[in-house]
Amino acid sequence: MPADLHPNFQSQYDAVIARNPGEPEFHQAIYEVMLSLAPIAGERPEYAQWSILKRICEPERQIIFRVPWVTDDGEVRINRGYRVEFNSALGPYKGGLRFHPSVNLSIIKFLGFEQTFKNSLTGMPIGGGKGGSDFDPKGCSNAEIMRFCQSFMTELYRHIGEYTDVPAGDIGVGGRELGYLFGQYKRITNRYESGALTGKGLTWGGSRVRTEATGYGTVFFAQQMLGTRGQSFDGKRVVVSGSGNVAIYAIEKVHQLGGTVIACSDSDGYVVDEAGIDLDLLKDIKEVRRGRLTEYADQRDSARHVSGGSLWDVPCQVALPCATQNELPAAGAKTLLDNGVEMVAEGANMPSTPEAIGLFQEAGILYAPGKASNAGGVATSALEMQQNASRDSWNFEDTEARLEQIMTDIHAVCVATAEEFGHPGDYVVGANLAGYIKVADAMVA
Ligand code: GLU
Repeated sequence: MPADLHPNFQSQYDAVIARNPGEPEFHQAIYEVMLSLAPIAGERPEYAQWSILKRICEPERQIIFRVPWVTDDGEVRINRGYRVEFNSALGPYKGGLRFHPSVNLSIIKFLGFEQTFKNSLTGMPIGGGKGGSDFDPKGCSNAEIMRFCQSFMTELYRHIGEYTDVPAGDIGVGGRELGYLFGQYKRITNRYESGALTGKGLTWGGSRVRTEATGYGTVFFAQQMLGTRGQSFDGKRVVVSGSGNVAIYAIEKVHQLGGTVIACSDSDGYVVDEAGIDLDLLKDIKEVRRGRLTEYADQRDSARHVSGGSLWDVPCQVALPCATQNELPAAGAKTLLDNGVEMVAEGANMPSTPEAIGLFQEAGILYAPGKASNAGGVATSALEMQQNASRDSWNFEDTEARLEQIMTDIHAVCVATAEEFGHPGDYVVGANLAGYIKVADAMVA
């Protein structure tokens, strides 16, 4: 770990680690929050009490279940399903479902822990949760995805509900999967309970802008960060990791704001396109054909595909990590800094390692942690819940304006909190403290 915890927190951190062995991602997420709590250990000792911390670090409920399903060839497969209901102090548990072979309890707990503070920062009445499965959708037919989702929901339905726990998408779970999940929920419960899931399609209770929200929100937040230095996206050279839902809509918004995204990636490598990523082509490959980025390079003269290597080798002024946890290690951070990066804003959850964050902060560049900069997705989920509760449907323009306002407000809260506790310009301290204090206040009350 790059920095030492405040002495008041070291023994508390050690106790939480001992209680949750073999969960490195969860430990990392706790470490990052505890590191940021140092300023309140002196100034607001009531928040640093072990009685609060130990409750916040312990999920309220952890559900693990078997998900049996049948392949097109008739073979029975078994996956493991998870839902960690982390904290309901501020509202019903809220957070996505991730379907990816890397999913395990550590990953779901780190995501649920992060989600709690992220949701707090949005200012909306939502608690924190996360779920998913080690199911690998890659290469599965539509029918296999459907059978898996139906089996997953056949267990999950009893744990969720609009006042209880409201899942949504995450890696590997998009509109198609949410459709299968919602259909099964509706069938089993005999309730058209729109507010039980978010990220729904527009014809069955979804919200406009939800698809775009995480990517757009990240760029709105980043725009505010640039504004603190009298800059904007106009003319900036930008690199975005990933090429899924978050990355695609981050790229779209950067282009709308006058920047140029010249590279993005998937698990096989990355493409560099000096003419700027062609979004229609990217969307066609990733959203329609569910293909690979190699196809992008085959179809664009200005683009080249690099297999392996590191996307962070591509020189840029702005880096938006929008793929997955720990995708930006110290080596990547060093190269980005050597090449003159001015800002890193996270669209993914915990994409930068603690070492990388340390390097960004040491260099004094603008750096925002995902729990602040990617909160637009879940915030728009909360807007979807509002529309479902009032049986209403808002237009794109108004919904996007709300999202932009929410991101502007989160940015302002982070800046003000960082200043209040003596760390001006430190978005990590600002986001963690602002998120934490609100949850702690509600729990104590
Ligand atoms: N998976 C997204 C996140 O990490 C969105 C969750 C939601 O909309 O509930 O915040």
